[in-house]
Amino acid sequence: MKTATAEVRLKSLQLNLERVRRLAPKSHVLAVLKANAYGHGLLPVAKALEDHADAFGVARIDEAIALREGGVEKTPIVLMEGFVTPDHLPLLNKYQLESVIHSPEQLSQFLEAALEEAIQIWLKVDTGMNRLGIPVSQCSEFYQSLSQSPNVKAPIRIMTHFPCADDIGSQMTDAQITVFDEINETKSTELSLCNSAGVIAWPKAHRDWVRPGIMLYGVSPMLGCCGPEHGLEPAMRMTSSIISIKEVEAGQYVGYGATWKSNEKTKIAVVAIGYGDGYPRHAPSGTPVYVNGREVPLAGRVSMDMICIDLGPDAQDKVGDEVILWGPELPIEKIATFANTIGYELLCNITGRVDIRYIKS
Ligand SMILES: *Cc1c(COP(=O)(O)O)cnc(C)c1O
Repeated sequence: MKTATAEVRLKSLQLNLERVRRLAPKSHVLAVLKANAYGHGLLPVAKALEDHADAFGVARIDEAIALREGGVEKTPIVLMEGFVTPDHLPLLNKYQLESVIHSPEQLSQFLEAALEEAIQIWLKVDTGMNRLGIPVSQCSEFYQSLSQSPNVKAPIRIMTHFPCADDIGSQMTDAQITVFDEINETKSTELSLCNSAGVIAWPKAHRDWVRPGIMLYGVSPMLGCCGPEHGLEPAMRMTSSIISIKEVEAGQYVGYGATWKSNEKTKIAVVAIGYGDGYPRHAPSGTPVYVNGREVPLAGRVSMDMICIDLGPDAQDKVGDEVILWGPELPIEKIATFANTIGYELLCNITGRVDIRYIKS
């Protein structure tokens, strides 16, 4: 009998990448694999996508090194926040990595370094998110300094990031595109603006490189939507098993804090998954769980290793039966809404205790 097990269908990852290509046919695709490929397992995901993606994007240099040491040899790898200390600079050459530059500190460290080989640079411009990136007004200056450096391989790419592309009613994205297009250097080099939401909802911003993350895993970035609505297949099915079933009488309580009380005599099943596996502790009673072809509600608080679910008085389910916590049968977006979070966080929170099994067909 299995405990918390994430089944990842590699073919779905490839189909989702093909979906990106159909949506953005003129763009190169930088597939985002940060945070352990959104919980799906860095190396197996990279191997499944290396013949399909034009580049991989990661957030930390350790992720990039793990990819190279794991045998991802040819696909370009971009550090999407750049190097964080000058000690990383020689590693960019050693592991053949590309880097974002988003700050004056990075610029001066980079220009002062004596690199063995020129590096592909992605200059990140802040067009309104006010997180990473240089001000639009400094773009020319940065671009010029970089162009003159022997450390830089041409062309310098220019990128920005969207905070509101998931909301088609927001004015922010249009305003950002306008600001971005006014940068003189954007007329003559390769450009990148779009995350998954940009790929889906902002075709005019596709340009030379798109940077999809969440949609590759079959999860929707759009507010109130699920992956299949955009032609995506959820790549992960999070499963476990029922390890106990018992009858409780009306008026009895279930779980820590005695927060759930039965209205009637019913059957309560215990499922071997909890917040120690990454199932969200904030999922309230009533959050759906999929068992034997139907949804049943969570009953009481999520424990570290277990959850309790209300099967109903007439249930025929047995100990050992499979339970699906999210996957093609039960959208992770729906679970995220119940738990007051987003699918991204549920995926990133999957812990090392979960057995990830790869389905090749
Ligand atoms: C994480 C990230 C992406 C991918 O975002 P999704 O919403 O998962 O598609 C793209 N670009 C940058 C700079 C990122 O940090």
